[in-house]
Amino acid sequence: MTVVVTTLNPLRENINAAARQAGTAEVRLIAASKTRPAATIRACAAAGQQAFGENYVNEALAKQAELADLGLEWHAIGPLQSNKCADVAHHFDWLQSLDRAKLVPLLTHARPPEKAPLNVLIQVNIDNEASKSGCAPRALAALAEAVAESPQLALRGIMAIPAPWPEAVRRRQSFAELRHLFEQLKCDHPSIDTLSMGMSDDYLLAIAEGATMVRVGSALFGART
Ligand SMILES: *Cc1c(COP(=O)(O)O)cnc(C)c1O
Repeated sequence: MTVVVTTLNPLRENINAAARQAGTAEVRLIAASKTRPAATIRACAAAGQQAFGENYVNEALAKQAELADLGLEWHAIGPLQSNKCADVAHHFDWLQSLDRAKLVPLLTHARPPEKAPLNVLIQVNIDNEASKSGCAPRALAALAEAVAESPQLALRGIMAIPAPWPEAVRRRQSFAELRHLFEQLKCDHPSIDTLSMGMSDDYLLAIAEGATMVRVGSALFGART
């Protein structure tokens, strides 16, 4: 049996304890399953995990087809190219990595009208890293407005991957800045409810700063090879 069965429950307990301490009603766990085979995802689902995050659209589509019987919730969490918007609109429940307005009409037109709106998080490049996707904090308000205007998209909040600062105190500062951006955005869009931040190495810090969703890969499935 895979490592997942023994890691999922302790991970959940850690998340729930940190959420209680932070006073957050619920912190959702997204299993970041890039590079993991469909069989591993199936085992994780059997252990009770419902939501999975994938970075590469083609890899995700193949696994989704194999796992269609499970009715899982799929999150696109990797950088999105415009030629993959239609696939995301058809095959995912959430897009966590929207970073530019150009993609909004492509997603809107491709989302099948019989489906619920695609849940969208705007990815923010909080530490202004050249290597990282995400919109600049000052571009957030306009991009959020464009998403909110689309009936095929549901604006749910923001997502970010802070720089891997070695010092926990500096990382915590990035998480706190994200929390502040989230609260500001909520003034204009009161229905947003999701602040997706924190991965294997720092999900406890992120929850302490107000994360409502964490995306965890290696702490759940083992190191990626
Ligand atoms: C891979 C990935 C994760 C999970 O990373 P781990 O360090 O393995 O927990 C989370 N978010 C995104 C966007 C990722 O690409």
